[in-house]
Amino acid sequence: MKEFFLYLSHLTFSRVLNLLLCGVGYLFSQILRYPVVLGKPWSVSIEPTTRCNFQCPECPTGIGELGRRAGDMALDRFIDIINEIEHTTLTVLLHFQGEPLMNPDIYKMVEYASSKRIITEMATNATLLDKEASEKLVKSGLKKIVISIDSPSEKEFGMYRKGGQLTGVLLGIENIQQAKLKYKTGYPLLCLELLAFKNNVSRIEDFVTLGKSLRADVIRVKTVQLLNLEDAADKIPIGTKYCRYEKRVDGSIALKGKANSPCSVPWYKCSLTHDGWIVPCCFDKSATYLLGSINTHSLNEVWYSKHYNNFRKRLIRHRRLMPVCSTCPQGRVKIDFNVG
Ligand code: SF4
Repeated sequence: MKEFFLYLSHLTFSRVLNLLLCGVGYLFSQILRYPVVLGKPWSVSIEPTTRCNFQCPECPTGIGELGRRAGDMALDRFIDIINEIEHTTLTVLLHFQGEPLMNPDIYKMVEYASSKRIITEMATNATLLDKEASEKLVKSGLKKIVISIDSPSEKEFGMYRKGGQLTGVLLGIENIQQAKLKYKTGYPLLCLELLAFKNNVSRIEDFVTLGKSLRADVIRVKTVQLLNLEDAADKIPIGTKYCRYEKRVDGSIALKGKANSPCSVPWYKCSLTHDGWIVPCCFDKSATYLLGSINTHSLNEVWYSKHYNNFRKRLIRHRRLMPVCSTCPQGRVKIDFNVG
């Protein structure tokens, strides 16, 4: 309910109109089997950095296999993006790859986007949230923070979150909650996530209890994406709803749902890498589909370009043949579940 009012309070005439145009364009595209793009991105994900202080084994950044240039988003580049999208974009997600708090300008970025009445959201591992950082983040106007706990047990937490400690995450969460009390605000809304592995799926009830004690606004379980399906059965809870993969009759493990399911994302959302490349979505972590760069064109020029539309056309007609889209759960299978 709090999230609903957050979105409602940031709607303007131009943002509502833009959302309608995005929806109508997508509808026509599906009917005609040809891309019709009427709206501009309603949600934009901007990568503050590719650097991270964890080494999670199922994350391309964590294992050093992102396959693209590492670096931080420059503040002036970020401001240019916000200036271009401020009237039509409702939410800016300050994460893609990497730990956002490793960019020293992150607070100024949140503050600038918030000054344009854009809803800002961030996913962080929370270990850099000391008292000072937490207060800066709350004062900057961040509206939603997503933090993964994975297990109420330190041992289980460390099995996936290599390089991190549960105590550090819990301290970061407490610092954020204290800063909210100090500045008498309910923001950022706290969303706690558990990534469902085989070893922690039985701990969901404990996770919910912990989430409530930490005064979380949203508590959810997210299914795991694996980089390699070879030993999937040892890692993830196949056969439960907290798993995006299933065992097929021939014994193989594959993503649930149909490979040619429709995807609406490139009609209302896009993602930007730290160095200015526009890619269709956060699922394209290694930037396989480079749709244009804001170093040479405006975001809107790229959004309406022939190259972007060719990508949309392929998505409508041949999703199952596209390397990233064919392994993506969007439109195929539900990947997160609110549990408290
Ligand atoms: S199918 Fe997945 S990877 Fe492809 S554009 Fe949609 S969300 Fe992105």
